[in-house]
Amino acid sequence: MPELPEVETTRRGIEPYIAGRMVTSVEVRNPRFRWPVSPTLPGCLEGRRITSVERRGKYLLFRTDSATTMIVHLGMSGSLSVFSTGSSNSSPGVHDHIDWSMSGGICLRMRDPRRFGAVLLTDAPPLDHPLLRGLGPEPFDSLFSGEYLYRIARSRKVTVKQFIMDGRIVVGVGNIYASEALFRSGIRPGVSCRRISRPRYLKLKGAVVQVLGQAIEQGGTTLRDFVREDGRPGYFKQQLNVYGREGLPCLKCDSPIRLSRIGQRSSFFCPDCQH
Ligand SMILES: [Zn+2]
Repeated sequence: MPELPEVETTRRGIEPYIAGRMVTSVEVRNPRFRWPVSPTLPGCLEGRRITSVERRGKYLLFRTDSATTMIVHLGMSGSLSVFSTGSSNSSPGVHDHIDWSMSGGICLRMRDPRRFGAVLLTDAPPLDHPLLRGLGPEPFDSLFSGEYLYRIARSRKVTVKQFIMDGRIVVGVGNIYASEALFRSGIRPGVSCRRISRPRYLKLKGAVVQVLGQAIEQGGTTLRDFVREDGRPGYFKQQLNVYGREGLPCLKCDSPIRLSRIGQRSSFFCPDCQH
């Protein structure tokens, strides 16, 4: 599933190629996404210039030179790519559902085998959109601090792992990144979020920023492949300390990594490094 680092990598990968270009035509081959793509999508975008591509949580915001913003979510399996319409391999595959042709012979393509993604339009300020309005701060924003986590956690009754995976608290901390950040900060995922001290939240905040930042950095190395013949970005794998390593020795202390279920999600932790 594309997580925040993949979405940010996608944004950085496509923006230089499409910002400033005019949408010349939009071809929707299959409108059946998480919500059906509006039949007005081509009419609202054709003749409009994309001014920037922004990100909020895992949503990409395509700003145009009108009030219209296109909001794209990659769902479980979506990806965006850019290719030159003159390239030999540009004919769409079975999962390539939408093409946005742009001035200068550039095409943006959305591929989504499982079709849990979304492509929506809004004429209102996009941050006020119902899907975006309730989102917590961005992990790289100064609003997201150890003090902030500590303060909010006082009134919550969930485990610390569920707490930091809650998009209303902070966006973009998926299961893998939560597990890794908790390992790096020495916090056991099943501990009640109310019982974590202020200094430990400071550490946890630093670890969240570090794991997400490193994943984005690593994604940067894939950017040069973004425009390829088949027009598909390669996702990246980070070196993982605990996630998916049940029974394997902890990379710090050699104790076997344990697996538990927290809120229906697999949670991996080291019983000796995390308390
Ligand atoms: Zn350990």
